[in-house]
Amino acid sequence: MAGVVVVGASLGGLRAADALARSGYSGGITLVGDEPHQPYNRPPLSKEALLEAQDFDAIRLRSSAKPGTVSLVTGVRAASVDLGRGLLFLSDGRELAFEGLVAATGLRPRALGIPKPSAGVVVLRTYEDLVRLRSELATVKDVAIIGAGFIGCELAASLTQLGYRVSVIAPENVPMLRPLGEELGAALMRHHLRAGVAFGLERLPVAIEGCERPERVVCNDGSSFEAQLVIEAVGSAANTEWLEGNGLDLSDGILCDERLSFGGDGRFLAVGDVARFPNLAFDAVPRRVEHWGIAVDTGRYAGKALGRLLSSGEVSPAFTPMPAFWSDQFELRIQSFGIPGLVTDASEIRVLEGDLDGEVVVGYHRDGTLVGVVLVGFAQSHMKYRAAVAESLEAAAGASS
Ligand SMILES: Cc1cc2nc3c(=O)[nH]c(=O)nc-3n(C[C@H](O)[C@H](O)[C@H](O)COP(=O)(O)OP(=O)(O)OC[C@H]3O[C@@H](n4cnc5c(N)ncnc54)[C@H](O)[C@@H]3O)c2cc1C
Repeated sequence: MAGVVVVGASLGGLRAADALARSGYSGGITLVGDEPHQPYNRPPLSKEALLEAQDFDAIRLRSSAKPGTVSLVTGVRAASVDLGRGLLFLSDGRELAFEGLVAATGLRPRALGIPKPSAGVVVLRTYEDLVRLRSELATVKDVAIIGAGFIGCELAASLTQLGYRVSVIAPENVPMLRPLGEELGAALMRHHLRAGVAFGLERLPVAIEGCERPERVVCNDGSSFEAQLVIEAVGSAANTEWLEGNGLDLSDGILCDERLSFGGDGRFLAVGDVARFPNLAFDAVPRRVEHWGIAVDTGRYAGKALGRLLSSGEVSPAFTPMPAFWSDQFELRIQSFGIPGLVTDASEIRVLEGDLDGEVVVGYHRDGTLVGVVLVGFAQSHMKYRAAVAESLEAAAGASS
């Protein structure tokens, strides 16, 4: 019997399978993942799992589906798919027939194409990466992190707290430039500097020198940073190769419509980091959103929508979530709602409460509409500012209709 196959057994895939099971769909649900484990949570990998040496059980994700309703297949890759025939081909030679498909295959880290030794250069995406990182850390003192995005900054904070000497190297002039903007990024950098993190910004690494292991990272301006361990945190590539040959736009993740479906067929949906979809609450531009909360929300939406469609033919309304992320760096809790990255004009980015070198709330406006907020601290105010973004978007939609 052709049921639903969910490819990618992590946060988005698990939440989709759970929601489909809860919708009462009875055609059979198979969740296929290429990692050897049960699904687990990635955010702790750069934070508490590293700081507190947590084991796998502490980060395991639990299913909310009734036992027996979702069959989990781990350690097996989806090799290819024929959407027209409804057949998924697995790396162990098995074929799975399906009437509905959820693509939840996420991202993998990019590596820099620069000269580097064969050992002592790592990335962080999986539990295995964390285990490798921990064992590498046992013998080093100086760590260079290439990349000043979320993961680079979180690792810089965690490793500094663990007593390592950390340098962050990146081409931007402040860390987390895209999601925070220049002023708040600069304030975050001052916080890291006070805690002892060194920054080599506005430069590109050109080589990681060392015989068998790294000794230093050399940059294009002639500067160099001593390091016996280098972590590459330079962005990611979407895991979409298994979907090739089906006429899809896979140029940056899986291009979806506003109902997360792809290939022009409501029975095929993408969720989580790999889905590129328009959020009509903001605009019609399809974007990938690499946030934990979006993996949860897209998963829940897709499972429910697919259940409705396959059980009763009912088409769900468009998916218009409020994107949200958090990041923990030193004692700072950074929270964001909306899409602050839509705003690049500095005059549209304003402090709403507090001050940049302490607890602060920053608002990001586009044509007078509050499209995003970032809170550093102010934990008790996050619902208020989330609601403010939602109200502003609604008012703008009302005015333009
Ligand atoms: C270190 C780290 C820290 C983070 N911290 C935060 C944070 O503080 N706040 C926040 O909002 N977000 C954070 N995130 C982002 C968040 O974890 C992701 O948005 C979320 O994991 C996305 O879930 P996903 O299910 O879409 O993809 P993933 O979690 O990447 O899962 C995709 C799964 O599919 C599998 N797969 C890939 N190809 C195939 C195939 N062909 N066949 C079968 N399986 C396949 C992969 O191995 C993987 O198991 C962090 C991410 C990382 C890596």
